[in-house]
Amino acid sequence: MHSDSNRLFIYTMLYINYKNMFLKNEKIKITVSELAIYLSCARKLYYSCRSHEPVSSSSLSYIEHLVLKEMAMSFPHMLNSSSSKDDVSYEDLEILLSEVLENISLIYPVEMDGVTAEIIDEASEVIRANFDEIRQNLSEQAKVPETSKLAGMLSFMDEEPFLHSDKLNMTGIPYRLVELEGSFAPVIIKTGSVPENGVWTNDRLHLASFAMLAEEMHGSPVKSGFVLYARSGLFRKINIHSTDRRQVLQTIGRVRKIKEGTMPDKKESALCASCSYSEMCNVKASFASKFF
Ligand code: SF4
Repeated sequence: MHSDSNRLFIYTMLYINYKNMFLKNEKIKITVSELAIYLSCARKLYYSCRSHEPVSSSSLSYIEHLVLKEMAMSFPHMLNSSSSKDDVSYEDLEILLSEVLENISLIYPVEMDGVTAEIIDEASEVIRANFDEIRQNLSEQAKVPETSKLAGMLSFMDEEPFLHSDKLNMTGIPYRLVELEGSFAPVIIKTGSVPENGVWTNDRLHLASFAMLAEEMHGSPVKSGFVLYARSGLFRKINIHSTDRRQVLQTIGRVRKIKEGTMPDKKESALCASCSYSEMCNVKASFASKFF
């Protein structure tokens, strides 16, 4: 027979164990990259965090993305040197493209495995079609003091900072974290289209999530961040608001649910056409439809 105090002890331990289990689930570790995948497609996150290998990642659009991203890392140098001499030229971009193509398989051996010369040529042609726009935007931004200052700082930085938050149990690596006017500002590179003004909502939340990590690590508020839209050679600055931070917190909760095992509904979008998981996703959707 248990005494009342023994019984109380057992109930207390059971309660603590239950609470720990609950808290453990609450604290599943997530990364900002997972958050970004969720923002592009919740179903895609479900597959990627369950180690479902994409059927093929060597599509034309993916190779374009890799090449543009590598090129964009040199845009601050170009912008910087164009402010002191001539405008960025078509030849400058052509030289940069050939340098990137020479090294791309060394930097991304897995992603480039099996990619044919035809795909690389096709991706290069698509990128070349943006050269005039990139050239013009880089040259114009060299005359803007804030962008010119940012490019100057980025030219001397060569490491991606590792950020983490114990409170959110989240980690992330932005392209760079610069210190401007006494405040840190994350910088990210995007290879999709550029919006007419400002940045896309998903890019805003991507920046806000890095801002929240940097705030905890450095103990001071992050007021702004930058997106470099590689396809246009444009830097866009945004201020980070409380509403962005609130949305990041909501998104973190949804990402954790998916990591715990909840499969989100399929949402058809323009991304599905070039999605590496489309085969798997279509089978799952039609299988599920037999039961509902
Ligand atoms: S096919 Fe569409 S819904 Fe399915 S994972 Fe890909 S982008 Fe998401």
